[in-house]
Amino acid sequence: MTEDMDHLDALRATVGAAQVLTGADALPWETDWRERYRGRALAVVRPGTADEVAAVVRLCAQAGLPVIPQGGNTGLCGGATPDDSGRAVILSLQRLNRIRSIDTDNDTMEVEAGCILQSVQQAAREAGRLFPLSLAAEGSCTIGGNLATNAGGTQVLRYGNMRELALGLEVVTAQGDLWHGLRGLRKDNTGYDLRDLYIGSEGTLGIITAATLKLHPLPVARCTALLALDSIESAIAMLGRARAGLGASLTGFELMAGDCLQDVVRCFPQQRLPFEGPSADMPWYALLELSDSESEAHARERFEVVVGEAIEAGIVLDAVIAESMAQSHALWHLRESIPLAEKESGKSIKHDVSIPVSRMAEFVLGTNAALQAAFPGIRHVIFGHLGDGNLHYNVARGADWAEGQLLARQDAVYELVHDRVHAVGGSISAEHGVGQLKRDVLPRYKDPVEMALMHRIKAALDPQGIMNPGKVLAG
Ligand code: FAD
Repeated sequence: MTEDMDHLDALRATVGAAQVLTGADALPWETDWRERYRGRALAVVRPGTADEVAAVVRLCAQAGLPVIPQGGNTGLCGGATPDDSGRAVILSLQRLNRIRSIDTDNDTMEVEAGCILQSVQQAAREAGRLFPLSLAAEGSCTIGGNLATNAGGTQVLRYGNMRELALGLEVVTAQGDLWHGLRGLRKDNTGYDLRDLYIGSEGTLGIITAATLKLHPLPVARCTALLALDSIESAIAMLGRARAGLGASLTGFELMAGDCLQDVVRCFPQQRLPFEGPSADMPWYALLELSDSESEAHARERFEVVVGEAIEAGIVLDAVIAESMAQSHALWHLRESIPLAEKESGKSIKHDVSIPVSRMAEFVLGTNAALQAAFPGIRHVIFGHLGDGNLHYNVARGADWAEGQLLARQDAVYELVHDRVHAVGGSISAEHGVGQLKRDVLPRYKDPVEMALMHRIKAALDPQGIMNPGKVLAG
């Protein structure tokens, strides 16, 4: 107890008393976004500079205190939540929120880790550039969290995930040293790529305090189309046609099961599907986005050709091509509301999986059937970034299931789904990471040599094991 008080006093002396939160004040940081994980921390510490982050980590290293980096706390794997020992320090990066500089000649920007993704997109836009990372949590998630989870989202098809969007990093190591790696270079072959090691490491190797990000030309116009489809095979055929017909202009291809959109309009009555009759009740929908360097009219014309041909070929049953930016936003809003409707509808079991597109139909149809056989009545909530082979293959309790019946079957459901993902050459985590959620099942699906190398990297960079312990790797 006295020891805890000493640690708290030392933390207060480092960042200021107002930036060290304990007790009830710390609660929002101790629970994850899905309210699935709850822990108890010694304190939430909110440094304001990279040097303060380094000083806090040095202090924790000396005292042997675990450090849990946290950005916007929107992660979906319990990666930013402490255990319940009350020993960990949650290190919130939220106050490191400056856009340090934008270099339009080099097409780069330097931003601090606590910058909210939306404010980075906005700053890039104001400089006449595009920072393309886009996901439904963009109003709350931070660049540091995006890097630590190697976030994906809706534009990966064209621009890649966060790894492809970062050129340099500034990192506080597990020893509390500050690595100044903010290089804005597209080419740099000077040894091991430490940047790529920290990206996607979920705070288990060090703390990202800033990054140099890659910018892209701002498209002149964007156009969105919502397509009604009768099967997942049709969605895959449409993806092939859209890629061939639109090339690099195709910036998004999202797949949504009809049930997901029905849930959205039920939970949020102000939203509606832009179809009437049978088209409003199809098993699948695809949302396509085209970015064009000429004009909205040109974008629309290009869409009309590709979608028109697909309708003639019987691949697409009905389509709405947005006539205005407002309509495009409304269509995207439907897609982005799916996770929110899912949360409103109660607990679900989530699988963020990656599948080779060529085996997607086999995976979905086979897994749907196997789940129904094992757990009759279970509901499938399937959506995702089909263009990247990334599905959010989620399941919810059946209409007549009691509360708690789903979670009682959770481990068996995970195993069934993940085994099938593995069998078709997929990955059990496409973009959300491992965190606590998938830590214990990781060795079942990963090559043993790969697992051993990961443990050795962790031991080399964080020999005391203080950086986000219990996440990604067990023990
Ligand atoms: P946090 O949740 O705070 O942390 C996530 C992990 O990163 C933790 O392990 C934490 O310890 C670590 N971390 C955080 N900051 C740092 C740092 N500065 N240095 C080192 N480690 C750090 N994700 C996608 O990829 N694609 C999607 O489409 C997507 N959609 C989402 C939709 C909704 C509605 C929600 C709630 C989440 C969604 N996510 C998605 C998941 C989440 O938004 C991302 O994982 C995001 O990148 C997390 O950022 P954050 O700042 O909230 O990180």
